[in-house]
Amino acid sequence: MPLDRFGREINYLRLSVIDHCNLRCVYCMPLRGLSFVPAPELLTAAEIETVVRAAVGVGFRKFRLTGGEPTLRADILEITRRVASVPGVEDLAMTSNGILLPRLARPLKEAGLKRLNLHVDTLHPERLQKLMRFGSLEEIEAGIAAAEDAGLLPIKINCVVTRDYNDTDVVDLARRALDGDWHVRFIELMPLGGGETAHVALSQFVPTAETRRRIEADLGPLLPVPGQSPSDEARNHRFANGRGVVGFISPVSEPYCGACNRMRLTADGRFHLCLLNDDEVDVKQALRSGGGEAQVAQILARAVALKPTGHRLDEGLSTHVRSMFQLGG
Ligand code: SAM
Repeated sequence: MPLDRFGREINYLRLSVIDHCNLRCVYCMPLRGLSFVPAPELLTAAEIETVVRAAVGVGFRKFRLTGGEPTLRADILEITRRVASVPGVEDLAMTSNGILLPRLARPLKEAGLKRLNLHVDTLHPERLQKLMRFGSLEEIEAGIAAAEDAGLLPIKINCVVTRDYNDTDVVDLARRALDGDWHVRFIELMPLGGGETAHVALSQFVPTAETRRRIEADLGPLLPVPGQSPSDEARNHRFANGRGVVGFISPVSEPYCGACNRMRLTADGRFHLCLLNDDEVDVKQALRSGGGEAQVAQILARAVALKPTGHRLDEGLSTHVRSMFQLGG
């Protein structure tokens, strides 16, 4: 198993396959001034497979496809099939906004995808449009239904809590874990990219403690789920009579860097060592100059060794080079 220099076991690789998205969430993607990775610079499905084979050789076991919006890649089924078929891949999940799932959920399942994290910031249609800007609640709900029908379970719902946009809607989402069996996770805003979206993340930040107080005031106490893995970024809870799970992901107010098990691959072929730092190690050049699995494994082992101890948001530092749509969460 790959241990970094702080003794953390790094066994989870998140693969960002594209930096385009069909939404423009206010805290993630600005409406203007965007530039995307040109198609020839994106890692191909075969190159992504080589990275995954190398990663398994180094000891990685869990993989996630993300973006941008991963379902926008025309070859997402081929990528999924290739990654899923690598011996040693124990878990293959995807993070998506769900909009294209009515068409893709079943083929993704057949290609080997196991489960999905879907992004729903609010169940209020007008506020959803204000926050996510493109797309509609109707489309997202159709995506969730398609994922359930295809058996891409368990589905986790991600909600990024943003003051004045959806901070009062957290109760309605959490109610789905009381009356229904949803697994809803409330995520604290992180400042990335240094521009307009980083400004939103800082000015509209809502700490987990406030989100939790609001939910408990209306729906009753949340009890911690016993036996959670320390590397799970969410602290999971249940209502006494609830069927679902309410998780809190609090990278800012309660950092969990000490238990981080993640490495990220950007769509343009660089290992991004820590979500909230700029450090990266290029792998595309090796892939495109004839370096095979063995060379990629060496580069990945070096990336693991160089992984920073944690983020430095408390010193006002974050990644300035990348935004979340380029990293995938
Ligand atoms: N398009 C997919 C989606 O919407 O889930 C995958 C990529 S998206 C970047 C992954 C997750 O990151 C989403 O849940 C999104 O809300 C979250 N996200 C984006 N920017 C964020 C930020 N600044 N802080 C916290 N979460 C953020």
